[in-house]
Amino acid sequence: MKKVALIFTGGTIAMKVNSKLQGAIPSVTPDEILETLKNATDNVDLEAVGFSKLPSPSITPEKMHELKLKVNEYLDDNAYDGVVVVHGTDTLEETAFYLDAVMTSDKPIVVTGSMKNASELGYDGLTNLDSSIKVVRDEKSRGRGVLVVMNYQIHAAREVTKTHTLNLDTFKSIEFGPLGIIDDEDVIYYRAQTLRKAYRLKPAHSDDVGILKVYAGMGSDVIDFYTQSGYKGLVVEALGRGNVPALAMDGIKRAREAGLELIIVSRAMGGRVLDTYGYIGGGKDLVRAGCILGGDLSGPKARILLMLALKNNLNHDDIKAIFHQ
Ligand code: ASP
Repeated sequence: MKKVALIFTGGTIAMKVNSKLQGAIPSVTPDEILETLKNATDNVDLEAVGFSKLPSPSITPEKMHELKLKVNEYLDDNAYDGVVVVHGTDTLEETAFYLDAVMTSDKPIVVTGSMKNASELGYDGLTNLDSSIKVVRDEKSRGRGVLVVMNYQIHAAREVTKTHTLNLDTFKSIEFGPLGIIDDEDVIYYRAQTLRKAYRLKPAHSDDVGILKVYAGMGSDVIDFYTQSGYKGLVVEALGRGNVPALAMDGIKRAREAGLELIIVSRAMGGRVLDTYGYIGGGKDLVRAGCILGGDLSGPKARILLMLALKNNLNHDDIKAIFHQ
């Protein structure tokens, strides 16, 4: 019989509404969830592991690092066929991408959560867990990198993002669509990952890489803030194809002179950045100033990758290679 570890980090999936606070708070234990699941899931041996009870806005890179070590304990144990990480949906894609960037095992890792808490009608937690277990125990899921399973769909950690604050159908792979679906008892893959990048970086963490969303009229002061505050890297969620206002270029140059690695991604939801434009603040100008183009990665994922790259002591050219690979 297959054996799967369910590692609970917290999130809405383990919450109920507290009448005094009139808000959802952590209230359901991993064992309670496991008990309910056991009645619905057969042919699989499940183990519930309590890792934390954190709403996902409180998940830090340090926690992601600790989580990776915990996940490894189960992947390294021959008795286990894979792991489901249970997580709040707000930062789920960041943790999933972190795990993807440092994973070395072929065993499936699925990250899931729920949009509704356990007090709400239509609670999607058990369905998502049931789907995730089906994905982990399916042989076809091996070697596909970290997967995100929500609302009967399977997504690649690298491609998926939360798109809606309320909808159950919130996780989308905007550019490529889902990798597959869970239909009743069947796990069906439509395609392989379009941009499977096995980074194989060593797990590490730091708090000195930031993200800055560019806006019309943005100047250099916000960039100077990062430079003067001791940040080692900054992901710039630039405009369109990867451009910033001319007013921001002095700050960009000062950041580079101070040694910050700057990654340019786009605040647009789909497509790559490219050095198409030659005007001041255009992609060409940014590359000339020593910025690295971050391809089609989202800002939060580029920040995870830059943080890991810096902590793995990669130099500027190696960082460029990892973002261009
Ligand atoms: N705010 C919650 C969290 O990320 C949302 C969720 O879990 O769906 O923990």
